[in-house]
Amino acid sequence: MNQTIYLDNNATTRPAPEVIEVMQPFLHELWGNPSSMHDFGGRVRKHVEEARAQVAQLIGADASEILFTSCGTESNNTAIRGAVEAAGDRPHVITTRVEHPAVLEPCRWLKQQGCRLTELEVDHLGRLNPEDLSRQLSTGGRAVVSVMWANNETGVVYPVPQLAEMVKLAGGIMHTDAVQAAGKLPLDVRRVPVDLMTISGHKLHAPKGIGALYIRRGTRLRPLLLGGHQENGRRGGTENVPYIIGLGRACALAAQHMRAGTARMATLRDRLQAGILASCPDTQVNGDETRRLPNTLNISFHYVEGEAILYHLSDLGICASSGSACAAGSLEPSHVIRAMGVPFTAVHGSIRFSLSRYTTEAEIDYVLEHLPGIIQKLRAMSPFARPAG
Ligand code: PLP
Repeated sequence: MNQTIYLDNNATTRPAPEVIEVMQPFLHELWGNPSSMHDFGGRVRKHVEEARAQVAQLIGADASEILFTSCGTESNNTAIRGAVEAAGDRPHVITTRVEHPAVLEPCRWLKQQGCRLTELEVDHLGRLNPEDLSRQLSTGGRAVVSVMWANNETGVVYPVPQLAEMVKLAGGIMHTDAVQAAGKLPLDVRRVPVDLMTISGHKLHAPKGIGALYIRRGTRLRPLLLGGHQENGRRGGTENVPYIIGLGRACALAAQHMRAGTARMATLRDRLQAGILASCPDTQVNGDETRRLPNTLNISFHYVEGEAILYHLSDLGICASSGSACAAGSLEPSHVIRAMGVPFTAVHGSIRFSLSRYTTEAEIDYVLEHLPGIIQKLRAMSPFARPAG
C-alpha cells in the first residue's frame, strides 16, 4: 500500500507547491535580516511587507494590523494574555467549553492568576446560546472574550459577528480563533467588530510554524515575547522570513480558491456523509449540520472504538482522526464531544474526516467502498453490547 488518502486537513494541510516555490529564494539568496539597515536586508523587508498585505487582504484588514507569530497557539496566547494584561484590572475572561486547548489553557492559567473565568456551555449540536454571553457580559466589569469562529473537531461555525457586536456594546475586548475558518469561510474584519483574530499557516496550505494575529488598530496588547523591536515592538525575535513569505502566498491562494474550492469541498463532504449514512446503520453526525465548515464531517459509529476504525483505515492509506485520545491506557472522549453530551455508545466511535481543496471524488469513493466493511467487521467483534432487534 503506498497511496495516501489524506482526510485529516483540520490537523494539518499539505503545503501548496506554489507556497514552497515562493519560499525558496528566502532560504538561498535573500537570507538577509529584514531589520538590517543595509539594502540586502531592506530587500527582504519589502517582501515581508508584501506578505503582510496578502494576509491582511484575506480578512479585510490593513497590513499594519497583522502581527506574524510562530503558530496559532502563540497568536491565541498573545491575544488573550496580552489583552488581559493590558486591561490591568483582572478582567472577566469569557470563553466556551469547546475551544481548542490553545485558548482554554491560557484562559485557565489566567484564572489561576486571579481572573474570573466563564466557560460557556454548548447544546447537543455544539451550538452556543448568545443569551448566555449576554448574561455574562451584564454581570459587570470589563470582559475579554474569546470564541472560536469554527470548531476544529465538529466544524460547527459560531455566530462570531453577533457575539462581537454584543461584546463591543458592553465595552469588552473580542478575540476569535479563526484557525479553522481562515481560507474556508469569507472573513472580513471591516464587517465584524472583532479586536483580535488568530490564523495558523499550516491549516491553509502553508508550512507548520507560522501564524498571524490580526490586531485592530487601537487595541491595547502587552507583547508575549519581550525582546527586540521587531513587528513594531509587538513581538521580539527576528522574523521567520521564508515562512512569512509562504503564509502570504497561502493566503493569496486561499482567497483565489475560496468560492470554487469550498463549494467543491462541501459537495464531496456531503457525498461522503450521505454514502456513510446509507451504508452504515447506527451512525450519527455530530454537530450542527446547518452551520458547519464546508470540509468537516464528524460522525459517530455506535458500538465501535474510533481508534480501531482509524487503525483499519490507516492500513488502507486513509488518514482521519478520532474524537478521543488514548491517555494512560484509557480512551478519553474529547472535551468537545463530551461538552455536547453525545451518548456513551457513540462517544467512543467518533471519527473526523476533514477535506481540502486537493481532495478528489475518487478518494471519497475509495473510503465509501471500504468503510462499511470495516465497521461491520468491528461490530461483529465489539466489546460494546448492541441491543438486540
Ligand atoms: N486553534 C484551533 C481551532 C486549531 O484547530 C489549532 C490546531 O489544531 C490551533 C488553534 C493551534 O494552531 P497551531 O498548531 O498553529 O499552534
